[in-house]
Amino acid sequence: MHETALMTNLLAIVERAARDGGGGRVRLVHARIGEFAGVNVEALRFAFEVLSPGTAARGGRLECEVVPLRVRCRGCGAEASPGDFVLACGRCGSTEIDIVGGREMEVDYILTDDEAAGDGAER
Ligand SMILES: [Zn+2]
Repeated sequence: MHETALMTNLLAIVERAARDGGGGRVRLVHARIGEFAGVNVEALRFAFEVLSPGTAARGGRLECEVVPLRVRCRGCGAEASPGDFVLACGRCGSTEIDIVGGREMEVDYILTDDEAAGDGAER
C-alpha cells in the first residue's frame, strides 16, 4: 500500500508549510491527485486518518481533487481529455502525444486556523 508512503511525504510537506506559515493548526489539506497517478483516493484518506494525529494536520480534514488525464499533441499542440483509452490527438489524429495532466500528486493548498479566521479566502 504505497498510499501510506505518499501520505507520509504529503504530511511532511504540510508540516513544513504550516511551520513556515506561522505554526497554525492545519484544518484542511487540499490535494490534487491525478486520475492516472496510480493513487487510490480511499486508501489515501485512510492513511490520512491513521497518520495525521501527531502532525500539524491532526484533527484536520483531507480534501482530494481528482485531476483528469490530459494529453497534448506533439503535432499540433491540441490538448484534450481522452474519454477512452485511444491515446491519439482528436484534432489531427497523431499518436505523438504527451501526457500533460492526470499523473500529479501534490498538495494544492492547506488552510490553517490563522487563515481560516480571516475572510475565508482559500489561497
Ligand atoms: Zn494534433
